[in-house]
Amino acid sequence: MMKILRTVEEIKAFAGTACQQGGTIGLVPTMGALHEGHLTLMREARKHCDTVIASVFVNPTQFGPNEDYEAYPRRFEEDCKKLEEVGVDAVFHPAPKEMYPEGYAAYVTVDGDLTNKLCGARRPGHFRGVATVLTKLFNLSRATDAYFGQKDAQQVVVVRRFVEDLNIPVRIHMVPISREESGLARSSRNMYLSAEEKEAALVLSRSLGKAEAAFEGGENSVEALKKVVREELGLEKLAEIDYVEIYSFPGLKEIAEVREPSLLAIAVKIGKTRLIDNVILGSER
Ligand code: AMP
Repeated sequence: MMKILRTVEEIKAFAGTACQQGGTIGLVPTMGALHEGHLTLMREARKHCDTVIASVFVNPTQFGPNEDYEAYPRRFEEDCKKLEEVGVDAVFHPAPKEMYPEGYAAYVTVDGDLTNKLCGARRPGHFRGVATVLTKLFNLSRATDAYFGQKDAQQVVVVRRFVEDLNIPVRIHMVPISREESGLARSSRNMYLSAEEKEAALVLSRSLGKAEAAFEGGENSVEALKKVVREELGLEKLAEIDYVEIYSFPGLKEIAEVREPSLLAIAVKIGKTRLIDNVILGSER
């Protein structure tokens, strides 16, 4: 039976026992409303770790004041069924007050080149909230390994940075983007989309596909590749571009040409819903 842990004391006790038994502890942090993309992370953890802990926590500190914290989907019972099916050992599902009690004052910030662009630039405080909650989750779960999706590629880079800088003893694994058959990257936020918007949202993966094809056909210019994406996105009336950017990956440095693995990342509003997607150009995979 999968254990449901709701308090700091409960997860500490669970992790303490797992730790005493030796072996690896895999953590998969999520905000719930789980879909197949989340489950690929769980399966990866299950394959490689002796104990698997998932967390389901809509973390208030990573949402901006005008973002969708209140509206974010919460489906804990359904999530538990899915987690149980993939063989997760325990799920940590704390109340916000359990993570941020009265008097809470400590935050982890990641400065510089990794957070001053892409979602870091558009969502002030987002990565501070992410780094803070993950530091707490790493400490509480005693994870030896943690699994993250390439869907949030900037997040992976930021997490690797603070884990190294703060000497947190956890290995960070990146799992490829899970997509629907249509190409749409799976996301809990896809639930916000109407049927018409869901159709329109296919333009994200389609535009990335066109740029990838251009790159594979020999186009290296960052400007030209971004233009391919912008032009495709421009054809969809319901799409409003937030950003289309290319940086070296994982360094997230400005580049003029793609000569090393590089992240082509986009954020696009479809109606009121902001969606992100990306592809890594020039990587082995
Ligand atoms: P979230 O619940 O949105 O915070 O996501 C939890 C984890 O699942 C993050 O590491 C995400 O990158 C990952 N994830 C979300 N969607 C996908 C997807 N379509 N494919 C792979 N990983 C994903």
